[in-house]
Amino acid sequence: MAVHGRKCLMNFKSKNSGIWASICSSLKEIHALSSVPANVIARRLGNGESTHFWTDIWMGNEAFSSRFPRLYAMETNKQALVSNRWNNGEWSWLWRRNIRDGAEATQLANLTSLIQSIQLIDKANSWTWNVPGNTSFSVHQFRLCLERALFPCEPLKTSWNSLVPKKVNIFVWRLLRDRLPSRLNLNLKGLDIDDISCPLCPYQVESIQHLFSSCMLFNELAQIISNWTRIDIVIANPKSTL
Ligand SMILES: [Zn+2]
Repeated sequence: MAVHGRKCLMNFKSKNSGIWASICSSLKEIHALSSVPANVIARRLGNGESTHFWTDIWMGNEAFSSRFPRLYAMETNKQALVSNRWNNGEWSWLWRRNIRDGAEATQLANLTSLIQSIQLIDKANSWTWNVPGNTSFSVHQFRLCLERALFPCEPLKTSWNSLVPKKVNIFVWRLLRDRLPSRLNLNLKGLDIDDISCPLCPYQVESIQHLFSSCMLFNELAQIISNWTRIDIVIANPKSTL
């Protein structure tokens, strides 16, 4: 399974078996892009045997390794599972040395307070889909979640002009959504473009905004059309004018 982002292709791989493990493994890559909140798919802790205590996100939206860096530095086993830190009904630690007063002690107090109510049970860890109003996972819901994150722009109302050819309507529709194949857009789609600058304008990236506002060629054409129609053409950002 793969998701095509704006700039990258994310391969869904997992060392663990099962569709949920694959989905959650892939979410790590998506979280790294800040596209989807980490708690969209949440771990439901059971025996803690397949969850890394420090590096997996199993409580809140951040791994303990980054939330409690002083403690993580003191941990003797960075790959410890949650079950490794649970002994006879209570949390147990294995530090490189005694925890010192100050930042280390504060972090330990915070960590202990955070997990004190957790009890491991004799049941495998599981996963829950955590989108408001949708408790069961579906590809459709996940795609909507990704689209909202990757394409947060306001939906534009489509209005067709019957006085101009269909291809002009389609062109404007694509222009308003920044979906014309400018060099910048092709590059963002992953095509190997040697140079994304405008061939006419030095030091300008060939984006849609440039092509339809500040590009020398566009301004010359606009001037010719203005002279021909005797209408003053005000040039600005195409998204705000068309
Ligand atoms: Zn240009």
